[in-house]
Amino acid sequence: MARDARYDILFEPMKIGPVTARNRFYQVPHCNGMGWRDPSALAAMRGMKAEGGWAVVCTEMTEIHQTADVTPYVELRLWSDHDIPMHARIAEKIHEHGSLAGVELCHSGYTSSNLWSREIPLAPTAMPTSSSFNSPIQARTMDREDIRNLRRAHRAAALRSRTAGYDLVYVYAGHGLGIFQQFLSRATNMRNDEYGGSLENRARLLREVIEDTKEAVGDRCAVPVRIAMNEFLGPNGLEPAEGEDAIGLMAELPELWDLSLSSWEKDSQTSRFSEEGFQEPYIKGVKKLTTKPVVGVGRYTSPDTMVRVIKQGIMDMIGAARPSIADPFLPKKIEEGRLDDIRECIGCNICVTGDFTMSPIRCTQNPTMGEEWRRGWHPERIRPAGNVKNILVVGAGPAGLEAARALGTRGHKVTLADARSEAGGRVALECRLPGLAAWGRVRDWRLLQIAKLPDVQLYLESQMTPDTLAEFEADYVVLATGSSWRRDGVARHHTRPIPIDGNADVLTPDDILDGKRPKGKDLVIYDDDHYYMGGVIAELLRKEDYAVTLVTPSYLVSSFTKASLEQHAIQSRLLGLDVKVEANQGLTSVSAGHVTLACVFTGRIRELEAGSVVLVTARNVRDHLFQTAAEKINNLACIGDCFSPGTIAAAVHAGRKFAEEFGSPLPDFLDLPYRREVIGLS
Ligand code: ADP
Ligand code: SF4
Repeated sequence: MARDARYDILFEPMKIGPVTARNRFYQVPHCNGMGWRDPSALAAMRGMKAEGGWAVVCTEMTEIHQTADVTPYVELRLWSDHDIPMHARIAEKIHEHGSLAGVELCHSGYTSSNLWSREIPLAPTAMPTSSSFNSPIQARTMDREDIRNLRRAHRAAALRSRTAGYDLVYVYAGHGLGIFQQFLSRATNMRNDEYGGSLENRARLLREVIEDTKEAVGDRCAVPVRIAMNEFLGPNGLEPAEGEDAIGLMAELPELWDLSLSSWEKDSQTSRFSEEGFQEPYIKGVKKLTTKPVVGVGRYTSPDTMVRVIKQGIMDMIGAARPSIADPFLPKKIEEGRLDDIRECIGCNICVTGDFTMSPIRCTQNPTMGEEWRRGWHPERIRPAGNVKNILVVGAGPAGLEAARALGTRGHKVTLADARSEAGGRVALECRLPGLAAWGRVRDWRLLQIAKLPDVQLYLESQMTPDTLAEFEADYVVLATGSSWRRDGVARHHTRPIPIDGNADVLTPDDILDGKRPKGKDLVIYDDDHYYMGGVIAELLRKEDYAVTLVTPSYLVSSFTKASLEQHAIQSRLLGLDVKVEANQGLTSVSAGHVTLACVFTGRIRELEAGSVVLVTARNVRDHLFQTAAEKINNLACIGDCFSPGTIAAAVHAGRKFAEEFGSPLPDFLDLPYRREVIGLS
């Protein structure tokens, strides 16, 4: 199919200084938890974006010097010439598919604690380093020599970037992470020399480094600037007006303006808190300040919206991190007129959790993300079946849907059966929770793809039993029957059931998702799960006028969501709704009308009135069918939440993994099931 003419504008070439991008699709720098530890995996992942049609593909932040060491996070490094070969491999993989390779050079100032290098961190003005661990480390105020040295280090890294083959060499002043933003912002620059005070002075270093970089590599490489438009600190930090003034001061100096919000939490907002295009109000004034190309982001997945933002003069190139992760082939699909094949990002930030946990990137929608090199998975292709089999998949949740889709794509004949009247399993239910509607895309994309596969049949309202499984006479049966939330208080804090009075009104998330509601208006939600479920149920029921107290053994509400950049937004939303929070409290018993809490530090016991209780704790596998059918059926596997409850991303990955491996002998338990890169000894 040819592309629709109304999208032609997206495929116009764009000149960026000395280089030309083949279209307007721009993969902005994004972290991925692989960095210097997994360079070949990283190169393959970036190469996949290029293959999928992104005209510019950038690295994540790249430390330019040992005083910019962001340990424990794993990003890229260009500290010395030793680092050049891994960058050359990344650039080469991007070039193989005709795209431009960009590197985001970064000195992160007071946001790097230098835990590995043990160098004293540098800052415009001395202050404690900003780190997740509140490390007892302070950055010192840079003197003029430090500033000269920083400029030399940036220049040296720029030259190495050019040697590695990059086409775009960034100056990074974004997310509070780039030191040039720390100089620009009143929040972090209290200097009274020529680098502090007025905006001109605060912008001086940024201007000098742009000039240095252009002078060093500008003959062959474009020099973009990534800049924060708003720090959300009011007049104490960068606001859009001052951001625009800063851009106005050097409007024509860089070859491209890449706009973002600060901090990263504000920039990569989830769909629970923002819509596609949420950054437009902050960036729409920039294009009139400069003739240079402007790139913006905002989880753009709809080609019509992309055309609109270009035609309205908000941006010239469509920047994307998450949409390119969920679908590395998004540009190609628009180009080929295959819009309904686009795997739209659901805005969940599971991808970000990889970086925060220093583990390779993963994605809820795209199970091949991060697996391109080590497992050889491809987001658009899967090897055809050598020997076609009849496969029955039970359970049309994320695991079953992905398994059926991928097995069907391989050419197997697949029957997918689910007891419920709608497909999607937990996704169909959870996407009705406040703010989670976009999560339904996990189901929708797979149903659409399955509908195109003639040999995959979906049967709803088909409760399967051991007998019906046996009668079916499939060559292979895959059970993806999910999990259910526990009702006995067992999770992390209590590993054994807690006393629960039979007369107490106790519910679980399954009850709430099924439409049941607490009998008592004063409600305790006990969250020992710590991801989104406890917080989102608190939001739902508070909005339905229950008086909600959220009890958690953690010090924060939904504490894992720190890794998905949502924790602050979740807790402030709940507090804004007058949800009471009892942090650092374990639930020790449930009676009719009240619960007892114990402080996790002192053990001090308190009683709290509670007409009803919702337990958000651990989950049990729903493997009854597996246990009972195992005697009758030989070729039987159990995948996803019914094998072990986890995230939706893990269920999708399990479905894909089953389909990838089906028909091949599995490696021995002692063999590594994928490639691993081992550091060469010096
Ligand atoms: P996962 O996340 O592993 O995909 P889900 O809980 O989302 O798991 O989905 C499991 C699906 O399996 C649900 O839609 C449920 O209705 C279905 N299911 C569970 N048991 C049976 C059964 N015996 N027969 C048919 N479908 C079942
Ligand atoms: Fe989008 Fe979620 Fe995938 Fe990240 S993990 S790219 S937010 S779908």
